[in-house]
Amino acid sequence: MAIKRALISVSDKQGILEFAKDLSSFGVEILSTGGTAKLFRDNNIPVIEVSDYTGFPEMLDGRVKTLHPKVHGGILGRRDLPEHVTAMNEAAIPNIDMVVVNLYPFEATVAKADCTLEDAIENIDIGGPAMVRSAAKNWKDVAVVTDASQYAGVIAEMKSTGGATSQATRFALSVAAFNRISNYDGAISDYLSSFNADGTRNDFPAQTNGRFVKLQDLRYGENPHQQAAFYRDLYPAPGSLVTAEQLQGKELSYNNIADADAAWECVKSFDSSLNTAACVIVKHANPCGVAVGINALEAYSKAFKTDPTSAFGGIIAFNATVDAAAAEAVAKQFVEVLIAPDFTADALAIFKAKANVRVLKIALPAGGETAWQKGRNSHDTKRVGSGLLIQTADNHQISMSDLKIVTKKQPTPEQLQDLLFAWRVAKYVKSNAIVFCGDGMTLGVGAGQMSRVDSTKIAAIKAQNAGLSLKNSAVASDAFFPFRDGVDVLAKAGAACVIQPGGSIRDDEVIAAADEHGLAMILTGIRHFRH
Ligand code: 5GP
Repeated sequence: MAIKRALISVSDKQGILEFAKDLSSFGVEILSTGGTAKLFRDNNIPVIEVSDYTGFPEMLDGRVKTLHPKVHGGILGRRDLPEHVTAMNEAAIPNIDMVVVNLYPFEATVAKADCTLEDAIENIDIGGPAMVRSAAKNWKDVAVVTDASQYAGVIAEMKSTGGATSQATRFALSVAAFNRISNYDGAISDYLSSFNADGTRNDFPAQTNGRFVKLQDLRYGENPHQQAAFYRDLYPAPGSLVTAEQLQGKELSYNNIADADAAWECVKSFDSSLNTAACVIVKHANPCGVAVGINALEAYSKAFKTDPTSAFGGIIAFNATVDAAAAEAVAKQFVEVLIAPDFTADALAIFKAKANVRVLKIALPAGGETAWQKGRNSHDTKRVGSGLLIQTADNHQISMSDLKIVTKKQPTPEQLQDLLFAWRVAKYVKSNAIVFCGDGMTLGVGAGQMSRVDSTKIAAIKAQNAGLSLKNSAVASDAFFPFRDGVDVLAKAGAACVIQPGGSIRDDEVIAAADEHGLAMILTGIRHFRH
């Protein structure tokens, strides 16, 4: 069915002139609201103002422009129902066969740092979504175009059909239109409910509107008998995994993505502005080697040494550019995914020969998000049954003034550095986490055990298996030691100093054990459970 009449009302006028010219060339009559009509007139595109068409002026600062029966009847009337056709004829309402609308820029407005509540409210479009809904509901007869990216496809189809659109296209456009309206209303609901009545922030509103956009179907889920797909937040945080560009390699799997996120989040936590590089190797969601070095090669070589057995088939992330030297070293091992903010051309050439390796480039976050975006994006969520647990992200940074030395022995400045390194890593290790470190690298990682003393034993065994000495090492525990047994184990393994939250009812017993073993112990007053 050829399109005879189109209503065009767009805030974002990009690409609209060309699209309208093309529609005109098919003989389509164009109706438009004030700003859009003026643009067309200025460019010699024939147009009828909606206010002339309805005989009713735009009013209330544009709040009422198209909310008129001649507009909505023309869009909503069913062409296949004789009663509708008769009613439309009696009311002298002609059909409108296409609606081209993009909405007031609500999302862009609230993303501005200086946006006031009033600005936000004035950017809630009323008539636009109403027309989009009318057209999307009547998709069997009406085409609804809600994004500039759809113009070319619609025109191409009209060219091939002599000015018509197909049912399949109209249905796809209708689905896209309802998605757009849902996202738009969701953004309004999210924004307004992120405030309390007194204007203060509300991180946990009465309702949350999760909206995700599909990035790709996955071959399968955590196991081959599970189906899966990968979605991103509608508004992803800069520097997050979903912003990655895959430069080469096989398709990412479900487990690759989960592990890549663990590696990237951990490596991102190291300050890339310092003159050092950090490298994190992850296996099954836990770091099995983390190190800092003067460059990517050194960081990788040290991280690999922690646990060469587990590093096999690992996910490797850097917070610095990967150059040829680092690439050559990494290419010697079996690596599933390699992530970095950048790669030199030489480094990429080395991986070209290893076509299966998935290479991801992710720009480090540059900041600049509004508090609203930052808050939303950094929330952690976890599905439980038909419920959802939401918490603010664990992004607490300890400062020197938080630290309390509780033993007779004081840590040396070098030990303090190693303790802080170990503490940083422990945050990314599943609880119960015990991390032995020395000289800017992990020496033994105990992860995900149900008892802290077992985690400590495992960390020590792993160091031994890797041929690493724990003598004079620094240890981090992600939560307090409930008994002295863990401290006894780590002292016996050779540790010289420990960092842990403290707060156990047996802290005295634990501190006495540290003193007995001649250890230095620092309490952070904060814990980093990760489940
Ligand atoms: P224009 O630049 O053509 O003057 O306005 C285009 C914008 O007006 C579009 O974003 C469209 O969604 C919006 N719009 C169309 N009709 C109405 C209406 O009746 N009320 C409001 N608030 N916005 C409308």
